[in-house]
Amino acid sequence: MKQVDLLYTGKAKSVYRTDDPEVYIMKFRDDITAFDGEKKDTLGGKGRYNTEVSSFFFRYLEDHGIRTHYLASVEPAVIAVRSLTMIPLEVIVRNVAAGSIVRRYPFREGEPLDPPVIIIDYKSDAHHDPMLNDDLIYALGLATPEELDQIKATALAINELLSEYLDLRGITLVDFKIEFGRYEGEIVVGDEISMDSMRLWDKETGTSLDKDVYRFGKGDVMETYAAVAKRILSPPWGEPA
Ligand code: 5GP
Repeated sequence: MKQVDLLYTGKAKSVYRTDDPEVYIMKFRDDITAFDGEKKDTLGGKGRYNTEVSSFFFRYLEDHGIRTHYLASVEPAVIAVRSLTMIPLEVIVRNVAAGSIVRRYPFREGEPLDPPVIIIDYKSDAHHDPMLNDDLIYALGLATPEELDQIKATALAINELLSEYLDLRGITLVDFKIEFGRYEGEIVVGDEISMDSMRLWDKETGTSLDKDVYRFGKGDVMETYAAVAKRILSPPWGEPA
């Protein structure tokens, strides 16, 4: 399999076609951005940590019956993925109020959201990712009712799996964003599941273990990413390695 041409370049990843139409190459760059791209930096090693965590979670989800685009590791910050046709939705699942939901609605930061709240944004830089509702999703032709039902059910199933996994490692999954695509008529999880796309708090101290460290200058971003990647890839606390 040979990399051919650049298909898409986002704020932190680039996707290339290969000579196999079924396979794309996804490169996790060291670029990091926040606030709609207003804050940006390049942090050596970030791409590698996000790749390790994303790859691990994709394999974990596959082991639990959820289809993802993940195929194989290629290089430390490069993976081979299925060639999904991406659906421009940012599907956000929230277990605890934080971030934009606290700014926009009368929630207190840290307030549990039970059952979890799903928010779906339109992935469009030109429109600044506005929040959608089901009717808008249908009117814009972004997904059918059947697809949207499946997207929401899968997002909630992923939430349960990730929350439980992280909880055993002393981490609260506050919220996360995932994206889906279509592949051979099926809805499949794409994009990434990493410290850039999840909000993670230490269960004991409430310390941020994710991109909020970068957004709000809460500490050393790479130290945090390295430590949380290690924690995620380790056995549950209290169990022998
Ligand atoms: P918020 O709406 O509070 O800014 O974000 C909610 C969750 O979704 C956070 O975990 C955040 O990292 C993730 N998220 C929201 N929008 C984006 C985005 O455009 N890119 C990435 N990587 N994550 C996002």
